[in-house]
Amino acid sequence: MQYKKLEVFIVLFCTSFLVNAQKLELPVWQEGFLDIHHIHTGRGDAAFVVMPDGTTMLIDAGDMSETHARTHSPRNAKLMPNASKTAPQWIVDYIQQFAPNQQKTKLDYALITHYHDDHFGEVDTLRTIAKGGYQLTGITEVGTMLSIKKMIDRGYTDPIDLKDSSIQSLDRYAKDKYQLIPTLKEYWKFIEHQEKKGMKHETLNVGEKKQIVLTRKPDSYPDFSIQNIASNGVIWTGVQNKTYRLFAKGSFPNENALSNCIRIDYGPFNYFTGGDISGIDGLGQMDLDAVESHVAPVIGAVDVATLNHHGNRDSQNPYYVRTLRPRVWIQQNWTADHPGEEVLRRITSKALYPGERDLFSTVMLRGAKEVIGGQLDQYKSQKGHVVVRVAKGGSHYKIYVLNDASETREVLSEFGPYISR
Ligand SMILES: [Zn+2]
Repeated sequence: MQYKKLEVFIVLFCTSFLVNAQKLELPVWQEGFLDIHHIHTGRGDAAFVVMPDGTTMLIDAGDMSETHARTHSPRNAKLMPNASKTAPQWIVDYIQQFAPNQQKTKLDYALITHYHDDHFGEVDTLRTIAKGGYQLTGITEVGTMLSIKKMIDRGYTDPIDLKDSSIQSLDRYAKDKYQLIPTLKEYWKFIEHQEKKGMKHETLNVGEKKQIVLTRKPDSYPDFSIQNIASNGVIWTGVQNKTYRLFAKGSFPNENALSNCIRIDYGPFNYFTGGDISGIDGLGQMDLDAVESHVAPVIGAVDVATLNHHGNRDSQNPYYVRTLRPRVWIQQNWTADHPGEEVLRRITSKALYPGERDLFSTVMLRGAKEVIGGQLDQYKSQKGHVVVRVAKGGSHYKIYVLNDASETREVLSEFGPYISR
């Protein structure tokens, strides 16, 4: 009898070991780690940051209307892992899996880079109305399911007043297929409703590094900070918190150029993310007046950078690439025209900067594979959530790719450790 029990135990032990070996989970976050999860829903950007003391932040919550033919065309990624939840519901599901204990039902910060569907949501007749009277999409749905302590965006007055009805009625907004103004109106209702429940709402304060801070044990991690680099074309000079302005008040640059940009610093480790800023002009030339060219010198060299504008052909100009020279590029992708082939050439060019670099994309659509072909083999991974895990103190980091097709999100591959520079 005793012998039988031992046998059963051995069989069970070995089976569970095999199961664990096949489905390796991301090691649990521990205090001191900086985790940056690039979540792939197929509907745009969402990056979940767990800071060294457990303070959390979501950067963007993309959600495109399911009513557009484009959303379901081969040009676009599929809703991942499946269509049983909306993109923001999957973002919340993801956060609840990986947030530290006590942090699973709230976010300390949410940062919206700019007001496009693939970054903050889009109104859609299929979606429901929340108790607060606003429609659930993108950030309004995430912020209804999780309580957000501080919501940060680019505001609405700079360089033009988006609440002004004469501006709203201009063709560029009135005829906008992707419904920026109707979505913003829902977002403003969301803000108003959540403010009554205690949410704070601020615009990104450029030049500041004390707006997004550790809220639990700031004194334990003095080497951690988040530097605000740009917003609305207002650029940090690199000196104290002084700034300068690219776009005159009342002018109409495109929404992408107004993106919020931040750098996350932890000891020697640096990470940059800048929404959909660009650096190449309409004729395909490097644009020294573009936001990328202005932010590059104040960002400086970094360890990890996300591709601006998902790797669109108008982004990652030579001067920007040469200045940031990241060891790791992360592409938050959702469409077949990303990356632009020229972008891939620039970010892998050793003429622009020396040394190795690793590329990761959350997805690669068939169209891109057919057009670009074998050059895409330079990516270490073309599918899955991309997690940057920085060790305590920031001295080194690893990249984990998690399965985006499964609801349990097991580790598909692991890279590094990389030494922070
Ligand atoms: Zn975008």
